[in-house]
Amino acid sequence: MNAQISKAKELGLCFGVRRAVKMLKEAAKKYGEIETLGPVAHNRQLVQGLAEMGIRPVENLEQLEGKVLAITTHGASPEVLSATQGRHVQVIDTTCPIVKRAQNSAKELAENGFDVIVFGEAGHSEVKGLLGWSGAKGIVALDGTEIDSSKLSHRVGVISQTTQSQVAFVEFTKKLLVALFPTVQEMRVINTLCRATQRRQQAAVTLAKRSQLMIVVGGYDSANTRRLAEACSPIVETHLLERADRVDGSWLVGKQRIGIAAGASTPDEAVEELVDKLTSLAKLVA
Ligand code: SF4
Repeated sequence: MNAQISKAKELGLCFGVRRAVKMLKEAAKKYGEIETLGPVAHNRQLVQGLAEMGIRPVENLEQLEGKVLAITTHGASPEVLSATQGRHVQVIDTTCPIVKRAQNSAKELAENGFDVIVFGEAGHSEVKGLLGWSGAKGIVALDGTEIDSSKLSHRVGVISQTTQSQVAFVEFTKKLLVALFPTVQEMRVINTLCRATQRRQQAAVTLAKRSQLMIVVGGYDSANTRRLAEACSPIVETHLLERADRVDGSWLVGKQRIGIAAGASTPDEAVEELVDKLTSLAKLVA
């Protein structure tokens, strides 16, 4: 019997990355070369495809050579945005509206006197931006118990990196509540999670439950792609791959139900290449 290969009900490029790619392609037609502050999304295939159209990433403003700069879906801090103004470059802002909403939450909390705690990865570009919008008292953490309550004021606001999992964010806020009471008088939690990410995670978990093998395709440094693999791993054998050519045929031996999930920055072609690869390998091992 041939193996059944199924895609998660929601997978691949989210509306935020599709929107950014569309804006960049239109701008490239109009202006020619464009530099992006960091990669457009954490996916090499996507970044390489855009580079062929003259859209290439720079690591910082000092590396800028051209006249058109794009802010990526992950957004940027107010400091970075104002630093672009002195450089006489045209700025195209592709910050995802969901990230923009999280930035606005951070800004509002800081303006209202709250210390802002960001649940997320310290080195991630979105988190760096969120800390910038949190003013001088932004703190990033992944574990609510590691925060020193003596350094906080009496009012604390909590937001999340948009692509974190709902379960992890809820767990974080619960631990934080226990750790900060009774020092803190007010704790305000704002749900800044991205629903597109949550839906991809739920769809991946649902498929993992009825599969014997899950393959997650996407960039190794993509936070939301890694999260998909982390969500499926406890349920079933799961492999995270950047491209279809990394599939090992031995994984398919004895497997009749194979599931595919893909991160929010994974291009459609990467998903289709994986389907084709698994279909041909499944025939060989059947
Ligand atoms: S994963 Fe969510 S927050 Fe990130 S770009 Fe896509 S829609 Fe926006």
